Amino acid sequence: MKTEISKALFAQAQKLIPGGVNSPVRACKSVGCDPRFIARAAGSQIYDVDDNAYVDFICSWGPMILGHNHPAVVAAITKALASGTSFGAPSPLEVELAELVTEALPSVDMVRFVSSGTEATMSALRLARGYTGKKMVVKFDGCYHGHADSFLVKAGSGLITLGIPGSPGVPDDIVRNTLSIPYNDIEILEKTLRDDSLDIACLIMEPVAANMGVVLPQPGFLQKVRALTKELGIVLIFDEVITGFRLSYGGAQAKFNIRPDLTCLGKIIGGGLPVGAYGGKEEIMRQISPEGPVYQAGTLSGNPLAMAAGAATLRELKKPGFYETLDAKAATFATELSALTKKYQIPATLNREGSVMTNFFTEGPVTDFESAMTADTKTFGLYYREMLERGIYLAPSQFEGAFISAAHTEDDLAKTLEAAESVFSKLPGK
Ligand SMILES: *Cc1c(COP(=O)(O)O)cnc(C)c1O
Repeated sequence: MKTEISKALFAQAQKLIPGGVNSPVRACKSVGCDPRFIARAAGSQIYDVDDNAYVDFICSWGPMILGHNHPAVVAAITKALASGTSFGAPSPLEVELAELVTEALPSVDMVRFVSSGTEATMSALRLARGYTGKKMVVKFDGCYHGHADSFLVKAGSGLITLGIPGSPGVPDDIVRNTLSIPYNDIEILEKTLRDDSLDIACLIMEPVAANMGVVLPQPGFLQKVRALTKELGIVLIFDEVITGFRLSYGGAQAKFNIRPDLTCLGKIIGGGLPVGAYGGKEEIMRQISPEGPVYQAGTLSGNPLAMAAGAATLRELKKPGFYETLDAKAATFATELSALTKKYQIPATLNREGSVMTNFFTEGPVTDFESAMTADTKTFGLYYREMLERGIYLAPSQFEGAFISAAHTEDDLAKTLEAAESVFSKLPGK
């Protein structure tokens, strides 16, 4: 595979942009290679600047559930573009997307649009604190909620991959108000939440964790979380930036039938443009400025191009059978991939929920951050590089999900399995 142009661009980028990238995991450091610079994408394929084609399993880290350049999304953006790119004033598309989102998510009465998932979680935290008058936030080890100061404690893939627990620049005073506890551990959860001395405003979680690799909530875990937070008056925030419109049209909360108080969204609801949103119970949402005292604002919030792309995407997802078809395709692929790791006796655990999955190189089971950390990242690095050379574009970290989109064809998946088999057959095995 020729990579000269990517190499030259990366060298230049490293002089101009820290690490040569605008988001750390893209640098591919942990998998021992340099990033490919992407020139274009269509459907399930992305093409780098040296004109190599890849089957794309990153899908822009989740948003491209319809595949790249879906005609309905392109048409909606093009139409909006002709009418202006930003007004700094309310526009009809915001109402349209708000209607779609509140209709889809059972717990969301009202929604506020922002420009990224980070902004959504950061704002939801402020709102929960404003509403309760309390200050502590409880999160789970390995869950990622964007890069706001309060959440950079045991915060999932980006940091794990770099091998750092938190981040310099985050004052101790702020971290002191964040408590991180193990995912799926009901005993520690209950003990923590019942500790009155803690002054807990909210519990934030990914209802299905997808930033330490995919880790599923154990049966009963989400129900316990909901029951305890309700009993104790703690605001429950579901960070559905990945799971929203991914696991079902109503997100994880519809799939698992749990109603959080607040929900954070991003990724898919922007259809590939920069968007985030937070929403929830009317009583809490009316605390936001200008209706209430909790301040939050944004110059590009509700941007017409982003709203148009999001609404067009959601209208496609709403079509009958969309998730059944997508999930069935993902399930078949996962089963076949697992069969291959068995065949070649590679220690592996495949966790999947709907169309997002992680193949951990460990015997497993993987149920929390600690067990995720038993994965063999050296083997993953080798697997990653070999797959890339075979035209398969995976996330460059063991602790990320692989996303299947509606655009992935049987051929794409067959080609991927064929590539995986040829790599597995060269790995040492048990
Ligand atoms: C991606 C992600 C975020 C952050 O969203 P950005 O748009 O990258 O700021 C927050 N929470 C979860 C669960 C995510 O996966």
